[in-house]
Amino acid sequence: MIRDSYIKTVIEPFKIKTVEPIKFTTHEERARHLEEAGWNPFLIDAENVLIDLLTDSGTSAMSSRQWAGMLDGDESYAGSRSFFRMRDMVHKITGMKHIIPTHQGRAAEKILFSIVGGKDKVVPNNTHFDTTRANVEFSGALAIDCLNADGKKPEVIADFKGNMDIEKLEAVIQEYGVERIPLVMITVTNNSGGGQPVSLENIRQTRAVCDKYGLPLFMDACRFAENAYFIKLREEGYADKTPLEISQEMFSYADGVTMSAKKDALVNIGGFLALNDDDMAVHCRNLLIVTEGFPTYGGLAGRDLEAIAQGLEEILDEDYLQYRIKSTEYLGRKLTELGVPILMPPGGHAIYLDAKRFCPHIPQEQFPAQAITCALYLDGGLRAVEIGSVMFGRTENGSFVAPDLELVRLAIPRRVYTQSHIDYVIEVVKHVHDRRDELKGLKLTYEAPMLRHFTARFAIAD
Ligand SMILES: *Cc1c(COP(=O)(O)O)cnc(C)c1O
Repeated sequence: MIRDSYIKTVIEPFKIKTVEPIKFTTHEERARHLEEAGWNPFLIDAENVLIDLLTDSGTSAMSSRQWAGMLDGDESYAGSRSFFRMRDMVHKITGMKHIIPTHQGRAAEKILFSIVGGKDKVVPNNTHFDTTRANVEFSGALAIDCLNADGKKPEVIADFKGNMDIEKLEAVIQEYGVERIPLVMITVTNNSGGGQPVSLENIRQTRAVCDKYGLPLFMDACRFAENAYFIKLREEGYADKTPLEISQEMFSYADGVTMSAKKDALVNIGGFLALNDDDMAVHCRNLLIVTEGFPTYGGLAGRDLEAIAQGLEEILDEDYLQYRIKSTEYLGRKLTELGVPILMPPGGHAIYLDAKRFCPHIPQEQFPAQAITCALYLDGGLRAVEIGSVMFGRTENGSFVAPDLELVRLAIPRRVYTQSHIDYVIEVVKHVHDRRDELKGLKLTYEAPMLRHFTARFAIAD
């Protein structure tokens, strides 16, 4: 890291060896693509998107060493060298005894909750990510979020808005009874709550509650390195610790981990389940063999395991993490300076536009966040994702029930876009914000019975 005080700019800590062209389109072409996609950016071909901020999942750029590892991957069915490299790396970071590779995060969740979930069971979490909630509920169990109060208020600036509400956690345990709770989960960073971090103090307090009731603690660790870096920056006593040391301490309070390697392992596919309990590990491996594959490859090729091992090493590099957190913050800060309302403070992997304040003239049942998302594509070829009334709104007894938050997420793929791409994004958002009064609400013309946001179609509301 350049520590000389006369240097202010945080630069990308890499140089570019391979490039992929992106396609420019005209306003007219984008209007046509949007119309054809029924005003749903999920249905626009990626080729017609200039800057794709739909997700940070599986969209990372791999390093030359990861690509070298891909070539060097050992594709043996059993006992692959690449598995041992991945296992040793995950063990070094998490300290977990049993490391079980899966094809992505939700496969680890499926195995875990097939074993510990089921009817009458209750799983508390700071905030369940949607696949985690789906796997808990699919098993027949109840998923309960115990997020602290600040975490639910987009305008409140606090250091650790991802924290578990410790009192609510304890109240949930007492209300449902210890015997109905197979484990407590904590998600770092809190993806669904804006990529906000969880403090080590909060993890320790969560652990203490688990100890009091004899419950295991599992960590949904998709963005553990980003969380560790926020702890380094914000929590007293950690400024001089390395991201690896902080991660090791975070995991030392856990009995198990589920992870999507598509986030903080810098790969395009992969995940794992890691845990300490011997009997449970046997059970998990038996299920793994049925659904994913032999325990030394899970649902992955040897080359993928190699890329994960290398990615986990690179993600903990302090220069990388400084660049990652600062570049997300840069986007948030510039938009705030321009008067664009965003969820504060900027999270680790994304910036969220607050659509209720952005377009107060569009009622929530006319999907203001979706309208902004469409305008970003129309005006600049930018793809974002709606996290609001389309994703979480419901109709009950014929009337519309709006979710609390109405957001547009700009997720930043890792190591993919440079600062000038981000400056372009800022210009496009500013332009849409300047003409916000012209934006019109939308109405649904088609919706699927479940997870409607992926395939819904819209028209301009009357
Ligand atoms: C992405 C994600 C998952 C699921 O992982 P997949 O690899 O997409 O299956 C689970 N939890 C969190 C917090 C995530 O961000």
